[in-house]
Amino acid sequence: MSPTLSQKYLSTRGGSYGLSFEDVVLKGLASDGGLFIPEEIPALPSNWETEWRDLSFEELAFQVLSLYISSAEIPSEDLKDIIRRSYSTFRHAERTPVVELDPKRNLYLLELFMGPTFAFKDVALQFLGNLFEYFLVRKNQGKEGKDRHHLTVIGATSGDTGSAAIYGLRGKKDVSIFILFPTGKVSPIQQAQMTTVLDANVHNLTVEGSFDDCQDIVKALFADADLNSTHNVAAVNSINWARILAQMTYYFYAYFSLIKSPSYKAGSPVRFVVPSGNFGDILAGWFAKSMGLPAEKLVIATNENDILDRFFRTNGQYSKTAQAGGVKETHSPAMDILVSSNFERLLWFLAFQADGSSSAEEKRKHACEAVSGWLTQLKTSGSFNVSEAVLNGAKVEFESERVSDEDTIETIRSTYRSCFPPNLGPGSAKSSKTGGYIVDPHTAVGVAASLRSIQRNPAASHISLSTAHPAKFASAVDLALRDEDGYSFPEVLPQEFVGLEQRESRVTPVSGNVSWEVVREIVKAEVEQELQGLR
Ligand SMILES: *Cc1c(COP(=O)(O)O)cnc(C)c1O
Repeated sequence: MSPTLSQKYLSTRGGSYGLSFEDVVLKGLASDGGLFIPEEIPALPSNWETEWRDLSFEELAFQVLSLYISSAEIPSEDLKDIIRRSYSTFRHAERTPVVELDPKRNLYLLELFMGPTFAFKDVALQFLGNLFEYFLVRKNQGKEGKDRHHLTVIGATSGDTGSAAIYGLRGKKDVSIFILFPTGKVSPIQQAQMTTVLDANVHNLTVEGSFDDCQDIVKALFADADLNSTHNVAAVNSINWARILAQMTYYFYAYFSLIKSPSYKAGSPVRFVVPSGNFGDILAGWFAKSMGLPAEKLVIATNENDILDRFFRTNGQYSKTAQAGGVKETHSPAMDILVSSNFERLLWFLAFQADGSSSAEEKRKHACEAVSGWLTQLKTSGSFNVSEAVLNGAKVEFESERVSDEDTIETIRSTYRSCFPPNLGPGSAKSSKTGGYIVDPHTAVGVAASLRSIQRNPAASHISLSTAHPAKFASAVDLALRDEDGYSFPEVLPQEFVGLEQRESRVTPVSGNVSWEVVREIVKAEVEQELQGLR
């Protein structure tokens, strides 16, 4: 496989081929229900390890993204500018710094929470927001009023996606953003992060129901012919390809940070450990590895919603019905999912690689058929089984760990007691009295999984991904640390969060007779008002 200058995209279910990057970014989800993937995974240039080693985060992002976005589609200077603007809002000069969490165990933490909403989703959504704007500005050159292409972005959130998407799109021209969240089920800080953004193009809907109800409404809106005929609807959920793409950068960045670190033992194999829900974050790592990044394994860390962990432990059965009682509410709510949407993308590539056909075209066709079949089974009977070849393909690249709520709290506590990273920059959370490092519950799931992997592989170097700042998930952190020496929550609170919940906010309640048709009418009315300048 070689870098192609005209990267094209297809749907995992075979319904569309030969799409451009712009098509897949603006559409989000394929019309056959599949997810968009590149036709080819580009290989790294032969001299990447020396040439890229000392690049800044933005320079590295440009190199990685250029392998997937042809310069005929986005000229290099424009892509550089989009990248520069996307990460200038980050609070740390390195954007995604690596800290030495426990040098004795070769355990490093990749801090991904330096963006405006303090969670890893900013890395992708700041970029996606700027991409949307770039494409729209280009489409709308010389157009006025009703002729202008207007995008209506709709998403459901259990917390982090919503605020990151809102910060990525606030104030952008020709885009409205609607975020649906379940009333009373997102943390107060998360809710305030969304509803205190008062830009006219930002629309928050608080929906009486669960996160799944919100998700179902969004899916119904995407499938609705009426809304699609009057509005260009677009998705920001982690199914958007641009999000996966943007996340690849930090795997490279972390790798270089690690091997340049004085504490790194030359030749030690590198493992990435990723707290996973929808499988978007770790899938970016898999693309990086497939391109040639020397990672020995990717370790999936799930909470008690463990469909991914069960896949490995039950010999390739992917089942949403095996988990009695449906989705569990855990201390790591951003990972509370029943099925991991992005797993479909991995399965496609594994099916492709396992297929014995001689032509790439045949292999593609078979992979699409396999994926369509599995996803249909999942829908009709709640589960499916992959072949041994596909399972073995997954095992070559991945391991998995399931971390209970109890382990999560215990890990927040043990990390605080025993980890004092020597190279901490500003923006991390630690006790000013003891220096103990404070992880959020999602990050703790990853650290717990890392410690297990370290026991089996003591010579490896582990990079555990830190996906959120602990202040976002105060109740779990407080539960773990309230009796600890030197801990006080207010000290952990970033300046940006102080007084946030008291600020002016705006949100539209959807209660009583909740249905997707009701939401559709709200969307139409609010877009109309916004376009007339009434907001
Ligand atoms: C979204 C999220 C995750 C899970 O990432 P996926 O890409 O869905 O696997 C983990 N931690 C936090 C804090 C998140 O917001």
